Amino acid sequence: MAGKRFSMRCPHCRSATRTITSKQLSDLVREIYLDCMNVECLWRGVAQVGIVRTLVPSMTPAKGVSIPMVERRSNDIVVSHSTTVGNSVSAAAQNELRSPSFAKRMSLN
Ligand SMILES: [Zn+2]
Repeated sequence: MAGKRFSMRCPHCRSATRTITSKQLSDLVREIYLDCMNVECLWRGVAQVGIVRTLVPSMTPAKGVSIPMVERRSNDIVVSHSTTVGNSVSAAAQNELRSPSFAKRMSLN
């Protein structure tokens, strides 16, 4: 299955919006220009999407990139790694990545 597209409701009429364009502001933040699809509203505005926390650390971490590793929240959406990435990380390796001791080691770097 292809990834879901980003979508956001109009803050005024709650109708669907469409993305006009977007631009990357930094490695962690992107601005998205939105148009309300409701012809009786026609609101237009800008949303910001930011990367705020790490669920599974990168196997190829970049120097200078520090995204907090935090405990999973009860309302996190759980997605199997093998369906989002076309690699074959073993179940044992995935469990290691999710272990508290691994998270602790990553935070010390
Ligand atoms: Zn609207």
